[in-house]
Amino acid sequence: MVMGVLSESIIGRAASSGKIEIRAHNIRDYTLDRHRRVDDTPYGGGMGMLMMPQPVCDCYDAVRATVPEGASVRCVYMSPKGMPLTQRKVKELSEYDCLIILCGHYEGIDQRALDLVADEYISIGDYVLTGGELPACVLVDAVSRLVDGVLASPECYETESLSDGLLEYPQYTRPPVYRGLAVPEILLSGHHEKINAWREKEARAATERLRPDLLRDAEEDGKK
Ligand code: SAM
Repeated sequence: MVMGVLSESIIGRAASSGKIEIRAHNIRDYTLDRHRRVDDTPYGGGMGMLMMPQPVCDCYDAVRATVPEGASVRCVYMSPKGMPLTQRKVKELSEYDCLIILCGHYEGIDQRALDLVADEYISIGDYVLTGGELPACVLVDAVSRLVDGVLASPECYETESLSDGLLEYPQYTRPPVYRGLAVPEILLSGHHEKINAWREKEARAATERLRPDLLRDAEEDGKK
């Protein structure tokens, strides 16, 4: 599932050309259970099944052993209990040489395994999915875009929504008029200073209209 998603498009090409390396590991391959089970019922009762600590920790140890000596590494558990994923967090994680991303399934993972391996928990939003695979793909995609050489130039992400706490300004391409709607004239003027001023104004207006919470957060940060 994970490699299917991540072998496509920009991220797939970045992996094929060696800019990034992505490996997926099946925790079931590490179980010592003769029926290849990786889950069991929770102590104390309750609905559903929990992933047992042994296959998770043995898988983690095997992956950890492949991390080159001296490389910086962080283990992230994808979880609805985690801190919400933000562009700031993506940037921070892109500075590690290696990320180990742990995906839960069923009702989640035995707490002891999490205490032993996870450096932090990250959520991709306040809703619950059936497994951590899609969240892991989201994280890998977002982090990979910031790795040198994955996009054409750093400018591609430096001017994007959320990189400076604001949403991106509206963008237009050909034709100049579509269904009666014209591209703002300033963008056809070739006057770069005026275009930049227009873009800054529009970025702020878009943020006020679509995500006023971002402006409030920036103000709060400013006060700290
Ligand atoms: N019982 C858990 C709880 O209440 O926190 C939810 C388990 S969920 C059904 C199964 C797995 O999906 C989790 O262990 C986690 O890896 C992943 N997952 C679900 N929602 C997620 C989210 N919003 N962000 C990141 N991972 C998520």
